Amino acid sequence: PTKIAVMTSGGDSAGMNAAVRSVVKMAIFKGCHAYVIREGWEGLVRGNDEDQGSNPTPHEESLDAGPESLAQPRREGKAAKIKFVPTYGEGELLKEGVSEAETVGLKGRYIVRVGWDDVRGWLDAGGTLIGTARCAAFREQAGRLKAAHNLIKHGIDALAVCGGDGSLTGADRLRAEWPELIGMLKDNGDITQAQFERYAHLKIVGLVGSIDNDLAGTDLTIGAATALSRICEAVDSISSTAASHSRAFVVEVMGRHCGWLALMAGVATGADYCFIPEQPPHGSWDDAMCDVLTKHKKAGKRKTIVIVAEGAIDKDLNAIKADDIKKVLEDRLGLDTRVTTLGHTQRGGRPVASDRILATLQGVEAVEALLEAKPETPSYVITIRENQVTRTPLMEAVKQTQLVAHKIETKDFDGALALRDPEFDE
Ligand code: ADP
Repeated sequence: PTKIAVMTSGGDSAGMNAAVRSVVKMAIFKGCHAYVIREGWEGLVRGNDEDQGSNPTPHEESLDAGPESLAQPRREGKAAKIKFVPTYGEGELLKEGVSEAETVGLKGRYIVRVGWDDVRGWLDAGGTLIGTARCAAFREQAGRLKAAHNLIKHGIDALAVCGGDGSLTGADRLRAEWPELIGMLKDNGDITQAQFERYAHLKIVGLVGSIDNDLAGTDLTIGAATALSRICEAVDSISSTAASHSRAFVVEVMGRHCGWLALMAGVATGADYCFIPEQPPHGSWDDAMCDVLTKHKKAGKRKTIVIVAEGAIDKDLNAIKADDIKKVLEDRLGLDTRVTTLGHTQRGGRPVASDRILATLQGVEAVEALLEAKPETPSYVITIRENQVTRTPLMEAVKQTQLVAHKIETKDFDGALALRDPEFDE
């Protein structure tokens, strides 16, 4: 049978487990064998220790059970289900990851075949149970060569990667470099001529898991809705104390170069003012903000909420920081002001319903895209546009996303950058 693997990589986001569950179940439903790759690209580069073989079997008998196992009594206990203990971080992976994994029988095993029951109960779990990591080795060709070798060694025919723009950039690089990599593996004698021919075309698909909602080509990423929801809950809590004490709060939210979380949180909570990277104020931001807030105060508003995206920039494209805003609110408006940086609570926890649904529908589409992949079709990232789950060429989505990030990083805004409303450039 075709072997389909799924992994999560980069920053975690709520709904990643639902995506993994969906890929695993759809793969099995389609008669394929399902694999997970633990700890993102790091796990793929490391592969499995030689003595572990390619098919760890702490739960062998549950692997061949398909959807029909639903009709049978649930098998409980270790024999039927692997307990995944995720680990995080780059340097810590060896220190912590392996020792934790050891306790669940996965020491030295990053590529693990899973069965229908292994992903039971994953829909509502936050973070990613199969772990994620940042992987320096995968940025080098030597690392990607190891990754390619491990895929072929385990006979993996197709790979679904759920991650943010970094992880998908990595996926796109692996795709572009694949012919060269397998050529090298053949020349080194690492793979046979038969393997070289069978795995000549890499079947890879991306699923966008990111709280930032920052990938070009999709309206929504897996985890963004949950993050937004958490931000709204936090701002709601802050609002009541702000109103009681007549205070101002500056709330800094995540999003890297993308202001989606900040802007949508502003709309959803009725914030007084919002700073986002996409639309730098055309003049002095403090004047503009003070004008609006003064009007709100005059209208009798007791509380003041200003939301600032972590990537917010001023007219000269320099960062606008929460503390700068606080200072203006205190010095110019005399407001008793506090700064709240929401930090990692935004990463989620339990996914909201819409993230579970998005991840599930996209996981199904990802498996279909992999099974339909032909050498002449591009590799896709699964997207959603105008409420339709669809496929977008991976290369295109990555290119567009990087173009925007690069322009912001190098301050290379010109009239052509769609991010900035040309009216404000006058
Ligand atoms: P995210 O996927 O959340 O954007 P990162 O940007 O940290 O997170 O990327 C995750 C991983 O993807 C990196 O640790 C690295 O292994 C891989 N990666 C990112 N960018 C590249 C690149 N340009 N080439 C190869 N691999 C990359």
